This record gives sequence, structure tokens and C-alpha cells, in this order.
Amino acid sequence: MKVLFTDLDGTLLDASYRPAGEALRALLDAGVMVVWCSSKTFDEQRHLAETLGVPGLFVTENGGGVGVPPGFPRCDLHAPPIEIGGWGIDYREVRRRLTEAAEETGVRIRPYGDMTPDEVAEVTGLTREEAERARNRRWSETFLVGRKPGVLVGALDRRGLRVQRGSRFWTTHGRHDKGTGVRWFLRRLRDRQPITFAVGDAPNDLPMLAEVDHPILLPALDGRPVEADLPGLVRLDEPGHAGFSRAARIVLER
Ligand SMILES: [Mg+2]
Repeated sequence: MKVLFTDLDGTLLDASYRPAGEALRALLDAGVMVVWCSSKTFDEQRHLAETLGVPGLFVTENGGGVGVPPGFPRCDLHAPPIEIGGWGIDYREVRRRLTEAAEETGVRIRPYGDMTPDEVAEVTGLTREEAERARNRRWSETFLVGRKPGVLVGALDRRGLRVQRGSRFWTTHGRHDKGTGVRWFLRRLRDRQPITFAVGDAPNDLPMLAEVDHPILLPALDGRPVEADLPGLVRLDEPGHAGFSRAARIVLER
């Protein structure tokens, strides 16, 4: 069997969050197991899977947990997924350490958890319902950062928290990454001897790419180059949907 781990934002989803539906459908029709691997929450990914009518198999919050149908892999893959986790730090504890680090460094932050769903919707451009799903975090917190936030990274690190830095939003969580979630899946699929692929577009995808036989990297939508030195890495030159569709062809033809 073949398994494809894929990032969502900038890979399966384009800048306006539309999925590359046709390529995804072709993969599933060919019997490829597609596992999403994202910093998105369980609620966000479950909703997307339901909307698309595809199996809910995913890594949540950068490896804080996974979403799978009960009994995975010996189960009906279309059964509603449940969240399994425990290797992340619980949300409340993440928040406590984040607040402490911000106070220590004097960096101003504005965590999702302190905003109403309407406020999150306003700053992100999501709808209110989407904002609610994005806010419902279990293993990480996303926050807006004020000026000169660099010192915050060290203060978080001393408290056992990693940081994913975006342009406006940062996310912090325990010492897991997308690779943590990929390994969870691979342990359960070992006896099927899967041929494994992964596709992503950003530095936080590298731990996922490092776990598979065939890593594929797309250019980021924002054009930032990603430095990577992985054996067998294939770099495609088209971002977003076009890149994902080419990656899907590579998986199907392999
Ligand atoms: Mg991405």
C-alpha cells in the first residue's frame, strides 16, 4: 500500500483554503491512504474531512495529537474520527508557560484563547465558525506578537515549548512536531509494509518529510525558500494546488 502524508495550508489547500479536490480524489480512488499533517486543530480537520466526504486521518496541532476512526487501522476508515493524543503538553499548561515567558521578557502577546471567536475571525479573515474551530486547541496556542518578539523564543524554550513563527501569528507547543504524528501512523501500518510519501511547503514540514521514503517539497506560497537536506528529496517548482497535483502524480506513478 501507499501512504501520503500531506501538509494542508499552501499544499493541499491554496491561499483561499480551497482543497486540491481532484488530485485528492484520484489518490483515494487509487487506494492511497492520505493522512493530513497540519498545525490545524482536530475540529478544523474533522470539519474539512466531513465537507469533502473523505476519511478523517490526520495529525493535529503539529503532532500534539492524531485524529483517526476508532480502532484504526482495522476499522471503517469513513467512521467519524476521534482525537488521540497525550504526547503534547495540555493547552492550559501551554498557556500558563506562555504567559510567564511573555511577562519575563516584556513581549506583548495576544493569544487566541484571550480573544472572542469574533475577534479571531476579524484578525484572521476566517468566518466566525472557522474561528471557533481554530480556537478549540488542545496541545498548542496561537498568538499575535508585538514588537521585538525574538527574545520570547528563548524564554519559551527554557519552559519546554517550541515555537512556529509565522509573519503575524506564532504558535507554541510542547516538544513534538509533524514527525511525531507520522511515526504514530507508521507504527500502526508497519505490517502492511507501506511505501511512504510526504509533501509540504514549509520548515515545519521537514520533520514529516524526514520520516518517509519519498519526501516532496513545494515552494512556499509566500516565496520563502526552505533549506532542506534530506536524502531523495524531490523539489517541485509549482506551489499550492499545481504542486500538490504534481506530487499526487508522482505518488500514483511510483
Ligand atoms: Mg504549509
